[in-house]
Amino acid sequence: MLYGNESLRNVLFKMTSDDRLAQCILFYGDKGTGKKTLSKWFAQLLLCENDKAPCGICKNCKTVQNDVHPDVIWAEHSGKLGGFSAAAVRAICADAAIAPNSGTRKIYIFGDCDKMDARAQNILLKIIEEPPAFAYFIFTAMSRHTLLPTIISRLMPFAVSPCTENEAEYALSEMGFAQNDIEEAVSCFHGNIGKCKEYIENERIRQLVSLTKDAVRCIIEKREYDFLKVFYNGVSDRNTALYVLEMLERIFRDASVLRLGHDLPCIGCDPEGAKLLAVRLSSSRGQHFHKCILNAYAAINANVNLQLTLSALCAELMMGR
Ligand SMILES: [Zn+2]
Repeated sequence: MLYGNESLRNVLFKMTSDDRLAQCILFYGDKGTGKKTLSKWFAQLLLCENDKAPCGICKNCKTVQNDVHPDVIWAEHSGKLGGFSAAAVRAICADAAIAPNSGTRKIYIFGDCDKMDARAQNILLKIIEEPPAFAYFIFTAMSRHTLLPTIISRLMPFAVSPCTENEAEYALSEMGFAQNDIEEAVSCFHGNIGKCKEYIENERIRQLVSLTKDAVRCIIEKREYDFLKVFYNGVSDRNTALYVLEMLERIFRDASVLRLGHDLPCIGCDPEGAKLLAVRLSSSRGQHFHKCILNAYAAINANVNLQLTLSALCAELMMGR
């Protein structure tokens, strides 16, 4: 079942029915917004045997849904970084020269392409420049800037947005989660169904949210030592640090928006903390916070020692008024 992004789906539907559809498409948006679910829906749209596509009940729709349609091919990830091997990409290019097995179209899906290396992308260039008439290529990524410009220029990009909170609540209750879990998850991750689900199912994520909230209280009350303790005890590897930094950044963003009196929905996991922070935030300090986070990101990505990075972040965050 697919929730949200209704206007995007309407556009795609209209384009397929008018036969104006590009054969190479990029769905980009935050992790958890349902880009892969949308890719599947789109494959169904392209292959559905009924007029009201995708009907969800014809043979094609059902086999796509169950990942067993012979003409819908998901590119396999390889390696620790989650990229695609040259061999896997070459195999897909070769396969795309062969006519569809059952219908009139063949669909190749490359999910999570943010870590696709230049080599793999360059192998793809030729085929996505002039794909066979039956072949469609769908890419999903968090950002449109992680792919090479030569690739991007050949893809039709579509932004995928999170659902509304109501849609997320509805979707999560359809999945059978308990009402109080759902409310808690949505208060942290709003319309991002994937992240809400992860929050409910994964104890570690709940710990990290709670840790982030503690860190925000330490910043508000300028408790430097406690801040360090929170991080030292709870953040032991780079990925966890990046995850927490992203949550902090969103809370800082919410605080800045609140301070300016804008009536925009919160995007962070701690609306309460953002409110408290907003009261104490000058505009220069808001920018300062943003810069601190960027510095920490850069240090972590440059493999600077994690404890050092976090100590520096703490010192920087506590500076100024
Ligand atoms: Zn159908």
